[in-house]
Amino acid sequence: MSRRIKDYRDSYRKWKQHPVDYSYTGEKYRCSCCGEEHEGNYCPLCGQKATMGPVTWKSVWEGVMELWGLHSRSLPYTAWQLLFRPGHLMRDYVTGKRQVSFPPVKMLVLLGVVIYLLGHWFFPKEYSHEMSEITSTGTLYFMDYAWNWLKGHEEWFTLFVFSALILPTWFLFRHAPLLKRHTLPQGFFIQVFVANQSMVLELAMLLLALVLFFVPYGYFKYLIIALLLIYLFIDYKQLFGYSSWGTIWRFLAILVILSLITADVGGVISIVTGKNDYSSSGEIMGTIFSMIFMLWITYLVIYFTDVINRKAWLERGKWAVMKWQTIITLFMVLSLVVAIAITSIVK
Ligand SMILES: [Zn+2]
Repeated sequence: MSRRIKDYRDSYRKWKQHPVDYSYTGEKYRCSCCGEEHEGNYCPLCGQKATMGPVTWKSVWEGVMELWGLHSRSLPYTAWQLLFRPGHLMRDYVTGKRQVSFPPVKMLVLLGVVIYLLGHWFFPKEYSHEMSEITSTGTLYFMDYAWNWLKGHEEWFTLFVFSALILPTWFLFRHAPLLKRHTLPQGFFIQVFVANQSMVLELAMLLLALVLFFVPYGYFKYLIIALLLIYLFIDYKQLFGYSSWGTIWRFLAILVILSLITADVGGVISIVTGKNDYSSSGEIMGTIFSMIFMLWITYLVIYFTDVINRKAWLERGKWAVMKWQTIITLFMVLSLVVAIAITSIVK
């Protein structure tokens, strides 16, 4: 019994590394499109498949199935890989083994259509995206319009959300053992796959909810979020090859940096546009000062995570790499204390 489990585990491990075996029969074909005589699966002259002939009943079936891809490139098989070897699939694809996957952007659109249809038909309450009326004008109108459109197109919305991970992922995982110096285009496709994965998980939960119709759909939504977080960890661990802890702290750092930057951008916008309710110039000065302080903290977090990431803090003696940053921080804290003291005395 345990022997059998071991066999399964071995073959699973092998499959994770090499999901498809490509073999070559060496048969000779005459291309039915251009007439070229050739070996191999495709005509080297026009690119038509070697086994293609006149249209038959079988072609009808194949024609329909082709929408979902064929063999190793079929959409269901890619979805399967996204559940059981997600990080390996992503690395395969971005490093050039494209034939192991359905075209990922096309997959995202198709999954979007399937989820839209199933969701609207079976769970109209959860899936009807109420379009809010747009009352703003100027640039804001276009931003609201784009937002409305995104809300109605889940696949692009999901990709839009995950694209926020492209830059910080590049920043923190660019020294990763299994994918060294990945580029931003590679980062983009990694997030396309992550978006696909989240759509596959949602589709799986939708189907499960159809079977377990007596459980409210709200529970499945929480399940999707929980699964997604677990899967993000598995994705990054398989894809980049850091240890569990190395993956977790880098991922948490991504979240911290993203939320800091979001807060920074929000704060700067509120100061620049003057959309706030400060009365005195002292309050405005205070806000600007705390904004500068927050930007500085953001810089510190980014700088420090990079130092740890590159292990520079081990090579150059832990705190030596932080010397002038520490001095400026102390100076800022000190001036903050002085400022608070002065304002309290004046009052
Ligand atoms: Zn040909």
